[in-house]
Amino acid sequence: MKLKDKDLEFLGELGAGNGGTVSKVRHIPTGIIMARKNIMVSAERQLKSELKILHIVRSDYIVSSYGAFSHEGAISVCLEYMDLGSLDNIYHKKGPIPEVTTVKIAVHVLRGLLYLSEKSILHRDIKPSNILVNSKGQVKITDFGVSKQVLDTIARTFTGTQGYLAPERITSENSYSVTSDVWALGLSLIEISTGKNVYPLLSLFEMMTYVQESEPPSLPPGKFTPMFEDLVSKCVIKDPTKRFSPEDLLRHPYCMDVIADGISLIEWAESLKD
Ligand code: ATP
Ligand code: MG
Repeated sequence: MKLKDKDLEFLGELGAGNGGTVSKVRHIPTGIIMARKNIMVSAERQLKSELKILHIVRSDYIVSSYGAFSHEGAISVCLEYMDLGSLDNIYHKKGPIPEVTTVKIAVHVLRGLLYLSEKSILHRDIKPSNILVNSKGQVKITDFGVSKQVLDTIARTFTGTQGYLAPERITSENSYSVTSDVWALGLSLIEISTGKNVYPLLSLFEMMTYVQESEPPSLPPGKFTPMFEDLVSKCVIKDPTKRFSPEDLLRHPYCMDVIADGISLIEWAESLKD
């Protein structure tokens, strides 16, 4: 789709991150509602790789892109609009996400990660704000911003949102693999089901030391089923070679159970509408 600034009518702000702002827009010629992500030019290199990836990605578990253009020195990328927002918005507004819902969400994200790994793409920035929901009950991952090309020695530890970095990303170069995305998923599952960030008040340096030296994060005892505790623990095994892959996790008994019962999130999505 050929997109340009004057065809996009601003409807409201959706949020802002490190890279820029996201607004809700209407594409006037087609009437399609989109999420327009504006990115400052310094992040252009990162965006280019993001765009290349968006091009080849087509999955029910991944936010799709309509295209991109540059306007007044900034770059805009127009993404599928996910009307219920991101998981961090949702738990901040509605409180912790129930356990079974969280496991269904995990299945959606794992299918997205599995799809990406089949295409040899690593996400590198899995976290609640990059997992979006719509009122059809679809859950999709977005933001491939932290891509291979920017992964130089310095970027290695300073790209990706600090609290979600897997231990091997802190200690060694080029050891990022799909299981590092799984680590980040594990942290995200703890965060959305407890309603609390796992490493809330640590500085980057403290967090890096902490992740390497301490026990892996876990759910607070006694609040969740042993099956859920087990599922999360398989995501946050510190040795990346022993950590479960998306395929292994999709065969975890809890995931198999929810898949057998149906992973539809439509009722939960209904309950989120105001
Ligand atoms: P970071 O800059 O580290 O990625 P972030 O993910 O919070 O942080 P953005 O990616 O800029 O920042 O997104 C900001 C917010 O915009 C998200 O938290 C989400 O609520 C909203 N948003 C992003 N993309 C969409 C979309 N496609 N549909 C609806 N809302 C979106
Ligand atoms: Mg984001």
